[in-house]
Amino acid sequence: MLKDKVALITGASRGIGKAIAMEFAANGANIAIIYAGNTDAANDTISEIEAKGVKAKAYQCDVSSFDNTKEIINQIIADFGQVDILVNNAGITKDGLMLSMSEQNFDAVINTNLKGAFNMIRHLYSHMMKRRSGRIINITSVAGIMGNAGQTNYASAKAGMIGLTKSVAKELAARNITCNAIAPGFIDTDMTAKLSEKVLDAAKAAIPMKRMGKPEEIAKAAVFLASDNAAYITGEVLKIDGGLCM
Ligand code: NDP
Repeated sequence: MLKDKVALITGASRGIGKAIAMEFAANGANIAIIYAGNTDAANDTISEIEAKGVKAKAYQCDVSSFDNTKEIINQIIADFGQVDILVNNAGITKDGLMLSMSEQNFDAVINTNLKGAFNMIRHLYSHMMKRRSGRIINITSVAGIMGNAGQTNYASAKAGMIGLTKSVAKELAARNITCNAIAPGFIDTDMTAKLSEKVLDAAKAAIPMKRMGKPEEIAKAAVFLASDNAAYITGEVLKIDGGLCM
Protein backbone atom coordinates (compact mmCIF):
# COMPACT_ATOMS: atom_id res chain seq x y z
CA MET A 1 0.00 0.00 0.00
CA LEU A 2 3.00 2.33 0.54
CA LYS A 3 5.39 0.95 -2.05
CA ASP A 4 8.44 3.20 -2.63
CA LYS A 5 7.14 5.90 -0.27
CA VAL A 6 9.58 7.32 2.26
CA ALA A 7 8.27 7.46 5.81
CA LEU A 8 9.90 9.36 8.66
CA ILE A 9 8.78 8.18 12.08
CA THR A 10 9.93 9.79 15.33
CA GLY A 11 10.37 7.69 18.47
CA ALA A 12 10.52 4.49 16.46
CA SER A 13 13.24 2.62 18.35
CA ARG A 14 10.57 1.11 20.59
CA GLY A 15 6.86 0.77 21.26
CA ILE A 16 4.19 2.27 19.02
CA GLY A 17 6.69 4.02 16.74
CA LYS A 18 8.53 0.78 16.09
CA ALA A 19 5.26 -1.03 15.30
CA ILE A 20 4.34 1.73 12.84
CA ALA A 21 7.77 1.50 11.20
CA MET A 22 7.44 -2.29 10.87
CA GLU A 23 3.94 -2.09 9.42
CA PHE A 24 4.92 0.66 6.97
CA ALA A 25 7.92 -1.44 5.88
CA ALA A 26 5.68 -4.50 5.44
CA ASN A 27 3.66 -2.32 3.06
CA GLY A 28 6.72 -1.40 1.00
CA ALA A 29 7.80 1.96 2.43
CA ASN A 30 11.43 2.93 3.00
CA ILE A 31 11.91 4.03 6.58
CA ALA A 32 13.85 6.75 8.41
CA ILE A 33 13.51 6.56 12.16
CA ILE A 34 14.39 9.09 14.82
CA TYR A 35 15.22 8.09 18.39
CA ALA A 36 16.51 9.90 21.48
CA GLY A 37 19.40 7.85 22.89
CA ASN A 38 18.66 4.14 22.82
CA THR A 39 21.04 3.23 19.99
CA ASP A 40 20.90 -0.54 20.58
CA ALA A 41 17.11 -0.59 20.30
CA ALA A 42 17.25 1.64 17.21
CA ASN A 43 19.80 -0.63 15.52
CA ASP A 44 17.66 -3.70 16.29
CA THR A 45 14.65 -1.97 14.76
CA ILE A 46 16.64 -1.11 11.63
CA SER A 47 17.74 -4.75 11.22
CA GLU A 48 14.14 -5.93 11.58
CA ILE A 49 12.94 -3.37 9.01
CA GLU A 50 15.71 -4.23 6.53
CA ALA A 51 14.70 -7.89 6.76
CA LYS A 52 11.47 -6.81 5.07
CA GLY A 53 13.46 -5.78 2.01
CA VAL A 54 13.22 -1.98 2.24
CA LYS A 55 15.77 0.75 2.95
CA ALA A 56 16.01 1.84 6.58
CA LYS A 57 18.21 4.19 8.59
CA ALA A 58 18.17 5.46 12.18
CA TYR A 59 19.01 9.01 13.27
CA GLN A 60 19.67 10.11 16.82
CA CYS A 61 17.91 13.43 17.31
CA ASP A 62 16.20 15.36 20.09
CA VAL A 63 12.82 16.30 18.60
CA SER A 64 12.47 19.13 21.12
CA SER A 65 15.40 20.95 19.48
CA PHE A 66 14.51 23.25 16.57
CA ASP A 67 18.07 23.22 15.25
CA ASN A 68 18.74 19.49 15.71
CA THR A 69 15.51 18.52 13.91
CA LYS A 70 16.33 20.88 11.05
CA GLU A 71 19.77 19.36 10.59
CA ILE A 72 18.51 15.76 10.75
CA ILE A 73 15.60 16.36 8.37
CA ASN A 74 18.00 17.85 5.83
CA GLN A 75 20.19 14.78 6.25
CA ILE A 76 17.22 12.43 5.77
CA ILE A 77 16.13 14.23 2.59
CA ALA A 78 19.72 13.95 1.31
CA ASP A 79 19.84 10.22 2.16
CA PHE A 80 16.39 9.22 0.91
CA GLY A 81 15.67 11.91 -1.71
CA GLN A 82 12.24 12.76 -0.28
CA VAL A 83 9.86 12.36 2.65
CA ASP A 84 6.29 11.37 1.78
CA ILE A 85 4.99 10.50 5.24
CA LEU A 86 5.80 12.04 8.63
CA VAL A 87 4.66 10.37 11.84
CA ASN A 88 5.15 12.47 14.97
CA ASN A 89 5.19 9.74 17.57
CA ALA A 90 8.09 10.58 19.94
CA GLY A 91 6.74 11.26 23.39
CA ILE A 92 7.50 11.14 27.09
CA THR A 93 5.60 11.25 30.36
CA LYS A 94 6.60 12.95 33.60
CA ASP A 95 3.49 12.42 35.67
CA GLY A 96 2.62 14.14 38.92
CA LEU A 97 -0.19 16.09 40.49
CA MET A 98 -0.38 19.78 39.59
CA LEU A 99 0.28 20.68 43.25
CA SER A 100 3.81 19.34 43.05
CA MET A 101 4.60 19.45 39.32
CA SER A 102 7.92 21.15 38.68
CA GLU A 103 8.38 23.73 35.95
CA GLN A 104 11.04 21.44 34.44
CA ASN A 105 8.64 18.51 34.18
CA PHE A 106 5.97 20.67 32.59
CA ASP A 107 8.41 22.15 30.06
CA ALA A 108 10.07 18.82 29.21
CA VAL A 109 6.79 17.17 28.26
CA ILE A 110 5.50 20.16 26.29
CA ASN A 111 8.84 20.54 24.51
CA THR A 112 9.16 16.89 23.49
CA ASN A 113 5.53 16.00 22.77
CA LEU A 114 4.13 19.24 21.36
CA LYS A 115 7.04 21.39 20.24
CA GLY A 116 8.71 18.25 18.85
CA ALA A 117 5.78 17.78 16.46
CA PHE A 118 5.88 21.48 15.54
CA ASN A 119 9.63 21.29 14.83
CA MET A 120 9.24 18.28 12.55
CA ILE A 121 6.32 19.70 10.58
CA ARG A 122 7.94 23.13 10.36
CA HIS A 123 11.11 21.74 8.78
CA LEU A 124 9.26 19.46 6.34
CA TYR A 125 6.57 21.98 5.45
CA SER A 126 8.12 23.53 2.34
CA HIS A 127 9.45 20.15 1.17
CA MET A 128 5.94 18.68 1.20
CA MET A 129 4.38 21.88 -0.20
CA LYS A 130 6.71 21.91 -3.18
CA ARG A 131 5.99 18.25 -3.88
CA ARG A 132 2.23 18.89 -3.53
CA SER A 133 1.75 15.67 -1.66
CA GLY A 134 2.28 14.34 1.80
CA ARG A 135 0.83 12.66 4.83
CA ILE A 136 1.32 13.87 8.41
CA ILE A 137 0.14 11.71 11.31
CA ASN A 138 0.42 12.99 14.87
CA ILE A 139 0.21 10.50 17.73
CA THR A 140 -1.77 12.28 20.42
CA SER A 141 -3.67 10.54 23.26
CA VAL A 142 -7.14 10.21 24.70
CA ALA A 143 -5.61 12.14 27.64
CA GLY A 144 -5.62 15.17 25.33
CA ILE A 145 -9.37 14.77 24.84
CA MET A 146 -10.52 13.67 28.30
CA GLY A 147 -7.77 15.12 30.53
CA ASN A 148 -6.17 12.94 33.17
CA ALA A 149 -5.42 13.62 36.83
CA GLY A 150 -1.64 13.57 37.32
CA GLN A 151 -0.96 14.42 33.68
CA THR A 152 -1.54 18.17 33.34
CA ASN A 153 1.68 18.46 31.34
CA TYR A 154 1.01 15.44 29.11
CA ALA A 155 -2.70 16.15 28.53
CA SER A 156 -1.89 19.79 27.67
CA ALA A 157 0.73 18.70 25.14
CA LYS A 158 -1.60 16.10 23.61
CA ALA A 159 -4.54 18.55 23.44
CA GLY A 160 -2.14 21.02 21.80
CA MET A 161 -1.27 18.40 19.21
CA ILE A 162 -4.93 18.19 18.23
CA GLY A 163 -5.03 21.96 17.61
CA LEU A 164 -1.77 21.66 15.68
CA THR A 165 -3.20 18.82 13.58
CA LYS A 166 -6.36 20.70 12.62
CA SER A 167 -4.51 23.95 11.86
CA VAL A 168 -1.90 22.24 9.69
CA ALA A 169 -4.68 20.26 7.97
CA LYS A 170 -6.41 23.52 7.02
CA GLU A 171 -3.19 25.18 5.84
CA LEU A 172 -2.10 22.27 3.66
CA ALA A 173 -5.34 20.70 2.40
CA ALA A 174 -5.23 22.53 -0.94
CA ARG A 175 -1.73 21.15 -1.53
CA ASN A 176 -2.88 17.54 -1.37
CA ILE A 177 -1.29 17.08 2.05
CA THR A 178 -3.35 15.55 4.83
CA CYS A 179 -2.71 15.93 8.55
CA ASN A 180 -4.49 13.64 10.97
CA ALA A 181 -4.07 12.51 14.55
CA ILE A 182 -4.36 9.14 16.20
CA ALA A 183 -5.41 9.16 19.85
CA PRO A 184 -4.49 5.86 21.49
CA GLY A 185 -5.91 4.76 24.82
CA PHE A 186 -3.80 2.43 27.00
CA ILE A 187 -1.29 0.58 24.80
CA ASP A 188 1.11 -2.08 26.02
CA THR A 189 4.59 -0.44 25.74
CA ASP A 190 7.48 0.66 27.98
CA MET A 191 5.54 3.87 28.69
CA THR A 192 2.64 2.04 30.34
CA ALA A 193 4.90 -0.64 31.87
CA LYS A 194 6.04 2.13 34.25
CA LEU A 195 2.52 2.41 35.71
CA SER A 196 1.63 0.61 38.94
CA GLU A 197 -0.48 -2.54 38.86
CA LYS A 198 -3.22 -0.63 40.66
CA VAL A 199 -3.35 2.06 37.95
CA LEU A 200 -3.27 -0.54 35.16
CA ASP A 201 -6.07 -2.58 36.76
CA ALA A 202 -8.19 0.55 37.13
CA ALA A 203 -7.50 1.45 33.50
CA LYS A 204 -8.50 -1.99 32.25
CA ALA A 205 -11.67 -1.88 34.33
CA ALA A 206 -12.61 1.44 32.68
CA ILE A 207 -12.02 0.19 29.13
CA PRO A 208 -15.22 -1.31 27.64
CA MET A 209 -13.09 -3.96 25.89
CA LYS A 210 -11.39 -4.73 29.25
CA ARG A 211 -7.89 -4.98 27.81
CA MET A 212 -4.98 -2.80 26.76
CA GLY A 213 -4.28 -2.21 23.09
CA LYS A 214 -1.30 -3.54 21.16
CA PRO A 215 1.15 -1.27 19.30
CA GLU A 216 0.25 -3.16 16.10
CA GLU A 217 -3.36 -2.03 16.49
CA ILE A 218 -2.19 1.58 16.22
CA ALA A 219 0.16 0.75 13.34
CA LYS A 220 -2.62 -0.70 11.14
CA ALA A 221 -4.57 2.55 11.39
CA ALA A 222 -1.44 4.58 10.66
CA VAL A 223 -0.91 2.63 7.42
CA PHE A 224 -4.47 3.41 6.38
CA LEU A 225 -4.11 7.14 7.12
CA ALA A 226 -0.79 7.20 5.22
CA SER A 227 -2.23 5.43 2.18
CA ASP A 228 -4.13 6.66 -0.87
CA ASN A 229 -7.25 5.10 0.64
CA ALA A 230 -7.35 7.99 3.13
CA ALA A 231 -6.86 10.75 0.53
CA TYR A 232 -10.05 12.61 1.55
CA ILE A 233 -9.51 12.39 5.33
CA THR A 234 -7.81 15.37 6.97
CA GLY A 235 -7.99 17.11 10.35
CA GLU A 236 -9.43 13.95 11.87
CA VAL A 237 -8.65 12.57 15.34
CA LEU A 238 -8.99 8.80 15.30
CA LYS A 239 -9.40 7.27 18.75
CA ILE A 240 -8.06 3.74 19.13
CA ASP A 241 -8.84 2.90 22.72
CA GLY A 242 -11.14 -0.12 23.09
CA GLY A 243 -14.01 2.30 23.68
CA LEU A 244 -12.44 4.15 26.63
CA CYS A 245 -13.22 7.65 25.38
CA MET A 246 -16.75 7.92 23.97
P1 NDP B 1 7.88 4.48 24.47
O1 NDP B 1 8.27 5.09 25.77
O2 NDP B 1 7.78 3.01 24.36
O3 NDP B 1 8.89 5.01 23.31
C1 NDP B 1 9.17 6.36 23.21
C2 NDP B 1 9.95 6.62 21.96
O4 NDP B 1 10.15 8.05 21.82
C3 NDP B 1 11.33 6.00 21.95
O5 NDP B 1 11.62 5.60 20.63
C4 NDP B 1 12.23 7.15 22.38
O6 NDP B 1 13.59 7.00 21.93
C5 NDP B 1 11.54 8.31 21.69
N1 NDP B 1 11.83 9.63 22.25
C6 NDP B 1 11.58 10.05 23.53
N2 NDP B 1 11.99 11.33 23.66
C7 NDP B 1 12.51 11.72 22.48
C8 NDP B 1 13.13 12.91 22.02
N3 NDP B 1 13.27 14.00 22.79
N4 NDP B 1 13.58 12.95 20.73
C9 NDP B 1 13.45 11.86 19.93
N5 NDP B 1 12.87 10.71 20.31
C10 NDP B 1 12.41 10.64 21.58
O7 NDP B 1 6.49 5.20 24.08
P2 NDP B 1 5.16 4.60 23.42
O8 NDP B 1 5.50 3.77 22.25
O9 NDP B 1 4.29 4.08 24.48
O10 NDP B 1 4.47 5.97 22.92
C11 NDP B 1 4.63 6.49 21.63
C12 NDP B 1 3.70 7.69 21.48
O11 NDP B 1 2.35 7.28 21.70
C13 NDP B 1 3.97 8.80 22.47
O12 NDP B 1 3.79 10.06 21.86
C14 NDP B 1 2.91 8.58 23.53
O13 NDP B 1 2.60 9.77 24.21
C15 NDP B 1 1.77 8.10 22.67
N6 NDP B 1 0.77 7.37 23.41
C16 NDP B 1 1.11 6.20 24.07
C17 NDP B 1 0.16 5.51 24.78
C18 NDP B 1 0.46 4.25 25.51
O14 NDP B 1 -0.43 3.77 26.21
N7 NDP B 1 1.63 3.66 25.38
C19 NDP B 1 -1.23 6.02 24.87
C20 NDP B 1 -1.48 7.23 24.14
C21 NDP B 1 -0.50 7.87 23.44
P3 NDP B 1 14.67 6.13 22.81
O15 NDP B 1 14.31 4.69 22.62
O16 NDP B 1 15.97 6.49 22.20
O17 NDP B 1 14.53 6.57 24.23
